[in-house]
Amino acid sequence: MSARILVVDDIEANRRVLKAKLEAQYYTVLEAENGAQALEIARTKHPDILLLDVMMPGMDGYEVCRRLKADPATSFIPVVMVTALSDTEDRVRGLSVGAEDFLSKPVDDFALMSRVGALMRYNAVASELRQRQARGLGIGAIDELNKEEADRPARIFIVDDNPRASSRLASVLREAGHTAVTLLEAGSMADLSSQGVDILILSVTSKTFDALKICAHFKVSAATRAISILLICDPDDRVRAAKGLEIGASDVILTPVDKQELLARVRTQARRSRYIEMLRQRVDKGLELSVIDQLTGLYNRRYMMSQLHQLMQRSVMGGKPVSVLMADIDHFKSVNDSFGHDAGDEVLQEVAHRLQENVRPMDIVCRPGGEEFLVIMPDTPGDLACAAAERIRRAVAAIPFKVSGGERELTITVSAGVSTILGPDDTIGDLTKRADQALYQAKSAGRNRVESVAA
Ligand code: GH3
Ligand code: MG
Ligand code: MG
Repeated sequence: MSARILVVDDIEANRRVLKAKLEAQYYTVLEAENGAQALEIARTKHPDILLLDVMMPGMDGYEVCRRLKADPATSFIPVVMVTALSDTEDRVRGLSVGAEDFLSKPVDDFALMSRVGALMRYNAVASELRQRQARGLGIGAIDELNKEEADRPARIFIVDDNPRASSRLASVLREAGHTAVTLLEAGSMADLSSQGVDILILSVTSKTFDALKICAHFKVSAATRAISILLICDPDDRVRAAKGLEIGASDVILTPVDKQELLARVRTQARRSRYIEMLRQRVDKGLELSVIDQLTGLYNRRYMMSQLHQLMQRSVMGGKPVSVLMADIDHFKSVNDSFGHDAGDEVLQEVAHRLQENVRPMDIVCRPGGEEFLVIMPDTPGDLACAAAERIRRAVAAIPFKVSGGERELTITVSAGVSTILGPDDTIGDLTKRADQALYQAKSAGRNRVESVAA
C-alpha cells in the first residue's frame, strides 16, 4: 500500500521538490499552499503523514499543527515540521504543539525517507489499534486515556560503547523525565522486556558489538519484539542504518544528536511500543471473552468443542485415551424456585469452583450451558475418570453451599456420567452422547451418583 503524504508549503517550488522526491519512492502526494487548505485536506482526504512548513503567511505551521492535534478526526496523523534551520527554539515549539518529528531545509533525501519510513511503521501499529477500537467500541480515535498512557515517560536502554556519548544521551533523556539506563551502567542486556523497557537506543557505530545483530535478535524474539529500536548513526554509516531499518529497527537518528530530535523520536517510538502492548492486551481480552463463560469463568461450549476435537484427534493418533465427565446438578430447578435465580447463580458458581478444585491442571472444565458441566480429561482411561468423578461428587455433597450472602446453607448434589473414547471412528457426538446416557442412568438410579457406560 502506498502512503499518501500531504505536503504543506506556501512556496510552490518547495512543494515541487518534495513531491518529486516522494513520488520517486512511489508515495502519493497531496499539496496544500496554506494552513486552511491543509486542515481541510487533512480532514477530508485522510493523508498518512503531513509535511508541514513552519513559516507561512497567515496561519503558521505551529497553529496548523495545534489545530490538527486538537481535532479527533486528524489528531492521529503524524506531523513532520519542516524548519528552515535546525533552530532549537523552533523545534521546542514544534514538540509542544504535538509535532511528531522535524526536517531541516534543504531537505536531504536520507532524512526525508527515514522520517517517512519511520512514521509509516508507527502508523501501521497505531492504525491497527484505532481500527480495532473502532470495531470494538464504536469510536474512531485512540481515546484520551490511551493517549495519556502512551505518553507516559518512557523507559529507555542505551547501548553505545562510547561512554561519553552514552552518558550524554542518558542525561538528555533523564532531564526530559524519562528513565534511562546505559549498558555500561547495567552491565548486561538480559531481561530488558521484563524491566518494561519501551525503547532500545542502539549505536550503529559501536565497535565492541554488532548493532545489526542485536537488532535482528530483538525482532525475532516474541518477548522483545514490542521494544522499539532507535538507531544512532554517523552520517557515514547510513548504509548500515538503512540495513538496520530493513531488519526491524523503528527509526534512526544521525550524529551529532539533536536534543529535540531525540525527544521527538523517543516520544513517537514510546507510543509505538505501547500501542503494540495495548494491541496485545486487547487480543488476549478479546480471546478470553469469546471462550469463557461469564457467570462461572469456566470455558464455554465453543471452546469445549474445539478442545474435544483436538484431544480426540490426538488420542486417535496414538495418544492416550481421552475421557469426559458430564455432571448435572440434582433438582436444581427447586433451588431457583425456592430461593430465587440469584441464589441459583451462586450455586452454579460454587459448583464450578469445586469442580476446578478437584481436577488436575490438564483437565478442562467447561460449562456448555444451563446447570450442566463437562470436564475433558486428556490421557485418562475410564476407571481413572470415574474415580475423579466420584471425588468431585463427594466434594459437592460433603459441604453445604452458602448462598444469599452467607445467610442460607443448601445441600447440593450432582449426578455424573463418564465416557471414554472408543476408537478412531468415535465422534464428539458419540462420546458426549454416551456420557449423557450414563448421566441419565445416574439420575434414574437415585441421583448423587456416578455412572459410566461400558462399550
Ligand atoms: P434433575 O435432578 O433431573 O437434573 O432436575 P433439575 O431440576 O436440576 O433439572 P431441570 O432440567 O428440570 O432444571 C434445570 C434448571 O436449571 C432449569 C433452569 O431454569 C435452571 N437454569 C439453567 N441455567 C441457569 C442459570 O444460568 N442460572 C440459574 N439460576 N438457573 C439456571
Ligand atoms: Mg437438567
Ligand atoms: Mg439438574
